[in-house]
Amino acid sequence: MNRPHGRDYSKPAGRLYGVALLIMLVFLIFIRLTEVYIYPGSVIIPPDFFLIAVIIQMFFLWLYTVREKERILWIEKKREELGEMKSKFTLITSHELMTPITVIKGYMKLMMDRALGELTPKQKNALDVMNKYFERLETIKSNLTRLSSEKPESIEKNLKQASIESIIRTTAEDMGTFLNKRRQHLELQIERGMPDIDIDINGIRQVLANLLLNAIRFTPDNGRITIRAKDDKDNIRVEVEDNGIGIPGESLKSIFESFYEVQDIRKHSSGSIEFKSSGIGLGLTIAKKIIDFHNGRIWAESEVDKFSRFIFTLAKKQRK
Ligand code: ADP
Repeated sequence: MNRPHGRDYSKPAGRLYGVALLIMLVFLIFIRLTEVYIYPGSVIIPPDFFLIAVIIQMFFLWLYTVREKERILWIEKKREELGEMKSKFTLITSHELMTPITVIKGYMKLMMDRALGELTPKQKNALDVMNKYFERLETIKSNLTRLSSEKPESIEKNLKQASIESIIRTTAEDMGTFLNKRRQHLELQIERGMPDIDIDINGIRQVLANLLLNAIRFTPDNGRITIRAKDDKDNIRVEVEDNGIGIPGESLKSIFESFYEVQDIRKHSSGSIEFKSSGIGLGLTIAKKIIDFHNGRIWAESEVDKFSRFIFTLAKKQRK
């Protein structure tokens, strides 16, 4: 790790100054003993010692504060650098994937249309499998593109009055096959009479799809998923809750950062909806980005092995 000015800012300064304060405590006890046993009745020496001890103690505290402030600044700088690296990586990867994806897609279409000759049943089977995995590759590529664009034009241009209820219902229907495959039960608790609001319909659909897919992946077979939506003063509040594996407290904020995964990525199942299978840690980052564009808020609450709840709010009136 980089050590500016030869100091290691990655470690808290606490231990060093803790030891210093312990020495001061021993020193104070020593002075007390001196007062009692060596200079009984003395009124001058012990208070002088005490004063020196307090001043030294204050000096250590001041040093500790300065060191901790420097450390916090260093951590913030490192986080910024990491953020920039991630953005660069996302931009380059999505750009580099564009040409090969376009070429492969073109040839696959030619083969499917039989423009390159008739296909045997085995070749057709192979092509279907290729197509399925190619779709996943395209999703990764479009997620990376969405993430790398600072503010996708499409979102502002596509703001339209729409009903959250109907978006929830269509997205839930889209997930029907996955829910059936995992034998999970989805319950919708939607308040009646919520007003239509200005939103990017595809964007909010993607947010809900990402949250629902995660709920399906991280909940065991036969699990339960609930989507709630209600009027909440100036906002519409939507919750996606599951009774799956949950998320440890220390990860609750980080899961919205790009490429963050709670589980060890080497132990992932590579399927798309199997239990504990996962993508590349972009689903929630994209969801947050879309909600941020709507000036809304998104956050998560959870208890390990009990539940995960993702909540987002959307303003009823968009600030222009
Ligand atoms: P990915 O697309 O890889 O799933 P996400 O950004 O959607 O990435 O999620 C990041 C991580 O957050 C996941 O890998 C998982 O560890 C955790 N996570 C997200 N949703 C849930 C959930 N409903 N239950 C438990 N863990 C979750």
